[in-house]
Amino acid sequence: MPSRVSPDREGLDAQRQEVAHALAGYLQKKKRKPTSEIQIYADRIRSGEHDDFMRQISFALQDQSHLIMADLGGEPAEAQSPEIPTLLLMHDANVQHKTASSRRGQQRARQDSNIVLAALDQMAVSQKEESFVTIPEPYPPCTAPLESLEVIKLSQLTTETHHRGEALFIERIGPLIVTSILTLGAVKDVDGDAEAIEIYHADPHLADMLPASTLFFLKEPFLTRGASGKSVIRVDHPADIVGIDNLPKSLSSIASDQSATLTALEWKEIGNGYFTKQEYFKAGQAYQSALKAGAEDKLLLDVSRNLARVELALGRYEKARTNALAAISNDESDPNLKALDVKAYFRAASASYQLRHWAQCEADLRKLLALSPNNDDGVRLLGRVQARLSEQKRGVYDFPQLLKRLSRQQPRVDIADFTKRTLIGSSKGRGRGLFAAEDITLGELILVEKAFVATFEWESTTSSTKVYDVRPKKFDGFPAALWQGTVQKLQHTPPQTVAEISCLTGRYSGLGSKTLKVDGSQVVDAFQIHDIIAANAFAIPSPAKTKRTEAFGVMKTILPAGADPTKAMDIPDNCAFFSHASLVNHSCLPNATRMFIGDAMVLRATKNIAKGEEILHAYVLPSFGVTERQMRTETVWGFRCDCKLCEAESEESEEVRGRRAAAEGEAGRLANDIVTHLADAAQRSNIIRQAERLYARLKGTFDLALYEGLPRAGMTPIQAALAQVYCLRGEQSRCRTMIVDAFDCLGWTLSLHKAGGEAGDLLSPKAGHQTRVCEEMVGLLATACRVLRESKKDRKLAEQMRELARTIYIALNSVENGIEKMDAELDASKKTASLPLR
Ligand SMILES: [Zn+2]
Repeated sequence: MPSRVSPDREGLDAQRQEVAHALAGYLQKKKRKPTSEIQIYADRIRSGEHDDFMRQISFALQDQSHLIMADLGGEPAEAQSPEIPTLLLMHDANVQHKTASSRRGQQRARQDSNIVLAALDQMAVSQKEESFVTIPEPYPPCTAPLESLEVIKLSQLTTETHHRGEALFIERIGPLIVTSILTLGAVKDVDGDAEAIEIYHADPHLADMLPASTLFFLKEPFLTRGASGKSVIRVDHPADIVGIDNLPKSLSSIASDQSATLTALEWKEIGNGYFTKQEYFKAGQAYQSALKAGAEDKLLLDVSRNLARVELALGRYEKARTNALAAISNDESDPNLKALDVKAYFRAASASYQLRHWAQCEADLRKLLALSPNNDDGVRLLGRVQARLSEQKRGVYDFPQLLKRLSRQQPRVDIADFTKRTLIGSSKGRGRGLFAAEDITLGELILVEKAFVATFEWESTTSSTKVYDVRPKKFDGFPAALWQGTVQKLQHTPPQTVAEISCLTGRYSGLGSKTLKVDGSQVVDAFQIHDIIAANAFAIPSPAKTKRTEAFGVMKTILPAGADPTKAMDIPDNCAFFSHASLVNHSCLPNATRMFIGDAMVLRATKNIAKGEEILHAYVLPSFGVTERQMRTETVWGFRCDCKLCEAESEESEEVRGRRAAAEGEAGRLANDIVTHLADAAQRSNIIRQAERLYARLKGTFDLALYEGLPRAGMTPIQAALAQVYCLRGEQSRCRTMIVDAFDCLGWTLSLHKAGGEAGDLLSPKAGHQTRVCEEMVGLLATACRVLRESKKDRKLAEQMRELARTIYIALNSVENGIEKMDAELDASKKTASLPLR
């Protein structure tokens, strides 16, 4: 097919050939036989059907989007680089989106259910292969009660239309096919007219909620083009589906067919049967029916208690607690009833624990223990909840133990949040932020928070689905499983938490912080949650990597999840979403560092923070240059950092910045192996001279007037290396000067003259200066400790340096695991205090 005429036709042709060639190379490299599908794409590239895609490739080339091109050009490809077919699919999705408006309002053709079911199979196959979903223009969920909507038939649906004020009453037919965050199915109405349906973020128990041949309502349906390109009814918001179990009273006559004939006792027996088979959802439905059938007295208590147990298993903790408390007889005269009350209190307490309502859990347990003081389960849970209360109140955690327990099977931690040192406030020009509620000292805990939802790549629920968002019209890495997990969890979360999460910032504000329960369901706007996650989720390390901090060294600061424009489609392996810590704003001159332990974030102070001061951490590593930093913050979070450091760097010329970056790169390499090279007598003086020259060169790239009051962190690695060299050569005074200078460059005054009262007194921020804390400071302080030990009068000071090193290490790592390596090195160096290196 001939392509559209374009002005740069020739250039495009050349590019097309290039990409077609690269595609062939790509296939060869991967030793993959071109599947017919890929072959078709290659042909389409050749024939020019993918002009838009070509432009994007060319843009990617210019932009050095190494991921795409590495894959195309034969460089080692990164594990998650997108495959060409996926990129082309995205392109198709984009084209489809563009043509959607032209289809708006078109009449839908009537379809036989056999045709729809046959197509469904095909859709499922392609969906499973491609694992790719598109997000349309966001639209809000239905907030109107079912009673107020007008029931329409499938034949009344028109394409690309949100049928506001209307609802379908339809029957589910055929299989339900779950593919990652999308569940495919088919429906038909009373006329026998049928249509495919795509349900996103479906309840994990959807198959039980809507078994085949079940009638249900779909509020305000949306008929559109589905993932496969065929016409579908698309359901994005779980609350838009109303099963007949949840019908309002006025409509409940629809549901009262078979259920009216069974007694409450019979329903309870049915429920128990399902419970034994671990079919909790069905068990719950049966117990609900028992309640509706009029269970009374002891039977009512039994059913409520059983229902609580089932809801605990289903993760519906609020309901579980309500039902557990409804099962309390308060009849202490009957030992049997008393024992059952103990059980019910335990279920209430377990639900409170899962809801993280620690004080409430403790109160539930006190009631349990009043009835049965030696109850094992009760005593054990009391111990756990008391530990949580202590964490919440005092911020005392056993971090080394928590780290030790982490594994792939158990990547989540059982801890309470510690948030009382921070307050939510408004941050000038940046919306809301977190502020210190009290003075916080360097190295101390600011905040500990367990993620609302965290997903780990190896878990079966974490899909590799790629999400294509038509709005930014660019490839966007997005953690689909985290999105789905959050939408699903919010359905069963207390409204207060829903509100807290809903008022986080996202591009599309949806329902805002309004929380609504309509027709028995919590209304959650899935698009709003999508955008909140895009702006607020974090990539987190796997437990194995977290444990790597046990080795001496600092884990690199992790970029929050979201679109990293240089890594298109790079979906972070493990992601987490925090409701409170998400409020911390960015600064290139932060006063806090974050660390992750499993699914918990630990924030520590890297400066002394005064009460009322805003807590800030770096979303983007400050060590990136200003251009990179601003590009990232603008693309992912939509703001441009205007801190003093960005200001100063922006005033520098490209030439100066380039010179510095080159010197920093060299310094980093040299610093890494300078000490190793020192053993080589032939190399020694040469290497040291090289380092000294580099130090001078680096120093020369900073205009001191421009950097007045600002840290010059690029100098630290080479300074730390040189300090270590001078120490080893026994050049004490040069060593001390270098250490003091290095701290000075980072905005600190380090006193190496006489021991202070406390170690912390020896390190203070320079008046009017911004300070930086970085990993090399630990090494510098260890060197200071070494060199001070040389003279008897400085022994105390030496130990104080070691103490300071420990404080900085913990401020950066949150845990002291790994510091023992520094200790061991220092202890060993006592014997070989000054190496005769000259
Ligand atoms: Zn900045």
